[in-house]
Amino acid sequence: MSDFLLLILSSPSGAGKTTLTRMLLDTFPELCFSVSHTTRSPRKNELDGRDYHFVDREHFETLVHEGAFLEWAEVHGNLYGTSIAEIERARGRTGIHGMLFDIDYQGARQIRAKAPEVVGVFILPPSMGELEKRLRGRASESEEVVQRRFRTAQTEIEHYALFDYLIVNDKLEDAFKHLEGIVLAERSRRGKRAHLAETLLRGQKTGQ
Ligand code: ADP
Ligand code: 5GP
Repeated sequence: MSDFLLLILSSPSGAGKTTLTRMLLDTFPELCFSVSHTTRSPRKNELDGRDYHFVDREHFETLVHEGAFLEWAEVHGNLYGTSIAEIERARGRTGIHGMLFDIDYQGARQIRAKAPEVVGVFILPPSMGELEKRLRGRASESEEVVQRRFRTAQTEIEHYALFDYLIVNDKLEDAFKHLEGIVLAERSRRGKRAHLAETLLRGQKTGQ
């Protein structure tokens, strides 16, 4: 088992995965965020290359035909995909021991099929009412987009069984504590730590 953590964070839109992703990256600098490609337009606070690689549909479809994506899907009427190059870049960077994917259930299913060791976390809102409130509160999309995302939430939640862990994001700090716990537990898996026991058995000192 590789000690490189592949972690998927998924949720219906507005449940808080972008917020939790940022907190996770601040806490674990050894995790690298997988910057997806999308045909969606950037929001006001988003930067090309940091939040997404923003491309037009033609460019995206060319990448699909070239086999550039590990997974891709249509979500809320836009195309989103994780490029293979993005993961290879992260694997080659010193000090990076894992990758965080903010992707939907369709992408999670495709990655799981190719990399069964992937860890999937699904974030639930405390209620559908609260989800709608958060979607509106973000104030970065039109009413039509908010409605469309809210309608899709039901389908997304129906796919919860594709994930290993479910976290309810009611109080943000509590949800983050659960997420942090999952990362720590996954890093401690025997398959990833066997070399430490072997080192001790050889009479040497273990590292982290
Ligand atoms: P997603 O990435 O899942 O679409 P965001 O992280 O953008 O969701 O969160 C949607 C909105 O809800 C944002 O305005 C965010 O600040 C807010 N939010 C996130 N988590 C909580 C929480 N636990 N309580 C209240 N508001 C939250
Ligand atoms: P948003 O437009 O709010 O940034 O993202 C909308 C949805 O697309 C979210 O569920 C998000 O997780 C998903 N998404 C973002 N990037 C990717 C990707 O590369 N692949 C897939 N399958 N979904 C993605």
